[in-house]
Formats: sequence, structure tokens, C-alpha cells
Amino acid sequence: MTVTIDGKLTAANLMTELQDRVRALKERGTTPGLAVILVGDDSASAIYVRNKERRAADLGIYSEVIRLPDTISQTALIDEINRLNQTPTIDGILVQLPLPAHIDETAIINAINPDKDVDGFHPVNVGRLWTNQPGIVASTPFGIMQLLKAYDIDPEGKRAVIVGRSNIVGRPMAALLLNQHATVTIAHSRTKDLFELTKTADILVVATGQAKMITAAAVKPGAVVIDVGMDRDENNKLVGDVDFDAVAPIASAITPVPGGVGPMTIASLMIQTVALAEARANG
Ligand code: NDP
Repeated sequence: MTVTIDGKLTAANLMTELQDRVRALKERGTTPGLAVILVGDDSASAIYVRNKERRAADLGIYSEVIRLPDTISQTALIDEINRLNQTPTIDGILVQLPLPAHIDETAIINAINPDKDVDGFHPVNVGRLWTNQPGIVASTPFGIMQLLKAYDIDPEGKRAVIVGRSNIVGRPMAALLLNQHATVTIAHSRTKDLFELTKTADILVVATGQAKMITAAAVKPGAVVIDVGMDRDENNKLVGDVDFDAVAPIASAITPVPGGVGPMTIASLMIQTVALAEARANG
């Protein structure tokens, strides 16, 4: 029987645990603080930011959204980041991407204090991850690891194939699975014989943005299939990178879209913000 991995339920359970941790911190006089910088008025970004604000409020985390016009200069944005770097009550700083074209995303990410870089995109955190040192990890792959743990799926010794090599999903996912002793291959748009490769995976993680590109013929029977995609099909319905109806019958476990990986991403952001506040409280 195939297990449908329930991200909504797992995230809700983790949030209940987190509430206790926030309460304990507040009793010790520390309120976790999260600053989100939103540049411009991209509607999708505004929705993501609002969801983060709401989730923080539910947990009792202090959150501050800094809304800046899309005409802001790169220097002025970096000044804002520096102000937050120096604000002791702010544990995590997140700059909602994408940024307007005149701003260099890399320069902005690099300006965040790595110990407040709650998105885990700063090269210092990426380096910590690849050298298996403690640090902040990108929220989506962090959330996927929480899902695997919640469903007792141990990557050790498994063959993992990740389709997609972005800095926010594919690459950090590979490092996390490697750190958990999986044998990892990263595939991308130039990979030859992609489906021959995906068919060898015990754990298949797909993050391509290509609606339903993974069909049953691309999956090994009994595989664990993690679908990161958030795509639109021809009817404008939200679907994943995996053809769920075709693949679910042969997988041992699979994440649906929506309700799989998605709900874990914001939960992961909150978990890591609270962990940073705990580190502050512990001096
Ligand atoms: P990117 O566009 O940054 O990266 C996509 C990756 O997939 C690239 O490495 C690309 O290869 C590879 N790729 C694209 N098409 C193919 C193909 N036909 N065959 C093999 N590889 C392919 O995307 P993201 O990593 O940012 O996001 C991926 C998906 O995950 C999107 O649908 C996004 O919406 C979703 N997402 C969901 C989140 C959530 O919280 N649920 C969070 C983040 C993303 P190459 O490098 O060669 O171009």
C-alpha cells in the first residue's frame, strides 16, 4: 500500500511542538524575531510574505515586514540589511526573492549576517551544509528532511536521485541526503537518459517546475517520491512535477501537490527562526 505523505499534518504537528519552544523562550525573556524584506509589489511575493507573517503571529514570533519600493537602490537595501544585522532582537532576516532587475541578488544575500540568514542562501551556510557542519539550511529541503523523518524513511544506504540543481532546492537537498548517508545523484536539463537514471532511485526528489514530467515509467516500483513542483496544468490547476495519479500506485510513499512539500516550507522557516532565538537566549 502506498503511503501518501501528509505535509499539512506534519507541519501542524511540528508547529504544536514549536509553540511550546516559543513559550519556553518567552518565559526566559526572549521573543524570537523575524524580519522579512519585501521589495516592490509582486503579487505572488506579497502572498508568500503575508503567509509567513500569519504563521509567525500564530506562533507568537515577533515579525516585522519591511516593505520597500522597487525603485530602491542596492546600496539603500544593503543599508537596511545592515540595520537588521545589528538589531539584537531580530534573529532571522529574509529577503523575499525575486528582486528587481537592477539589484544584484547575490550581493544582497551576501550582505546578510550568515548567523541571521534564515533562508540559508548565504555562501557561509551553503559551505557549512556541504561540510556537514551545523548551520541554517534552505527551508524547502529542510522541510523535506522533516517529512522523511516523520515517516521513518531513513536515507542511509539508499540511492537518491534529485532532478533539479537550483540553489534553493536541488543542491541543498543533495547535501542533506548525502549528510544522511544516501548515495546521491543530481540530474538537470542536460542530463542524458534522465528517466533511466530516475528509475534507479530509491528516493526520487523532483524540483524542475515542469508539470507532471515524471510518469510511472520513470519511477522504480517501491520508490519514495518527493514532488517539490508547484506548476499549473492546462486547466490552470495546481499540480506537481510528478504525475501523481500514475506514479502513486507504484511508489511506496509519495507527496501530493498541494499538501505535500509546500506546507513544510514555511514551517521550516519558523523552526529555524526559533532555533536561532534559542541560540541567542543561550548566549
Ligand atoms: P529552478 O527553475 O531554479 O530550477 C529548476 C531545475 O530543474 C534546474 O536545475 C533545471 O535544469 C531543472 N530542469 C528543468 N527542466 C528539466 C527537465 N525537463 N529535465 C531535467 N531537469 C530539468 O526551480 P526551483 O528549484 O526554484 O523550483 C523547482 C520547482 O519547485 C518549481 O515548480 C517551484 O515552483 C517549486 N518550488 C516549490 C517550493 C515549495 O515550497 N513547495 C519551494 C521552491 C520551489 P538546469 O539547471 O539545467 O536549467
